[in-house]
Amino acid sequence: MIDKRLYSPKYVKEILNRHGFRFSKSLGQNFLTDGNIVRNICQAGEVTKEDCILEIGPGLGTLTEELALNAKKVVAVELDESLLPVLEETLKRYNNIEVVHGDILKVDVNRLIDEKLGGGPIKVIANLPYYVTTPIIAKLIEEDLNIETITVMVQKEVAERIVASPGNKQYGSLSVFINFYTSPEIVMEVPRTVFMPQPNVNSAVVKLKLKKELPEVDKKLFFKVVRSAFGKRRKTILNSLSSGELDLEKEDIKKVLERANISSKKRAEDLKIEDFVKISKILPPLDI
Ligand code: SAM
Repeated sequence: MIDKRLYSPKYVKEILNRHGFRFSKSLGQNFLTDGNIVRNICQAGEVTKEDCILEIGPGLGTLTEELALNAKKVVAVELDESLLPVLEETLKRYNNIEVVHGDILKVDVNRLIDEKLGGGPIKVIANLPYYVTTPIIAKLIEEDLNIETITVMVQKEVAERIVASPGNKQYGSLSVFINFYTSPEIVMEVPRTVFMPQPNVNSAVVKLKLKKELPEVDKKLFFKVVRSAFGKRRKTILNSLSSGELDLEKEDIKKVLERANISSKKRAEDLKIEDFVKISKILPPLDI
């Protein structure tokens, strides 16, 4: 049924030349040109014919095509207007794909899920534009959307920070943030050679499974504590919390840590999510 698949580098060049397309570095355009990687991403996302998928940044439709072959419906949001005629050509044989022109950071994803993806739960699968990886993931996990899993290609270094656990050098506020909302895992590493043009960094695919129940805590305060703690990560937790945005006296922080049973000599990188939760719960209303 399919004569030419979009991951063939020769075919990619031919289509892009014909449309006079120029890669935009600022839009993070590094297109996949390896069939195995495309199939593996789709498999990692555990896509079945029951699934409705949101893809971010279809590019010229390489991953979109694989998703459409395996899913019930795919909605792909692309920011670059010059890719729309390309996508119209490359994906014309699929009737279960809808391309939406827009910036994913501005799109009302909740409405999109309701109106175009059957209300969810949906799966998000994408080779993300690296310049906005964190804001995109943050939007998807913070907005309480009906999303089951997010399987995305990111910079390898970002993937390592996402899955890092306490005691690890890469463990930081990003790890706490992602692990607060999801259970993350790295499903594969991807060399830079499979992209056109090749990026300067290696990549990895992470899969984030959204948690059904979150710790019961004031989120705003929790993340303020986390930011303060990691803001001065070389200092002890006592010093970092008392010099950060919490605006509290050292003596008060000392009492909070005592009550939470956390040694004030520890550093942010030693603390688990539960420790940050404990601290945040004891902080207000500061009856110490
Ligand atoms: N999915 C394609 C692939 O794997 O070959 C392309 C991936 S490329 C790394 C990222 C894509 O995201 C590009 O097509 C780019 O134009 C698009 N993009 C960049 N910023 C975006 C945004 N804010 N919203 C939606 N798409 C965006």
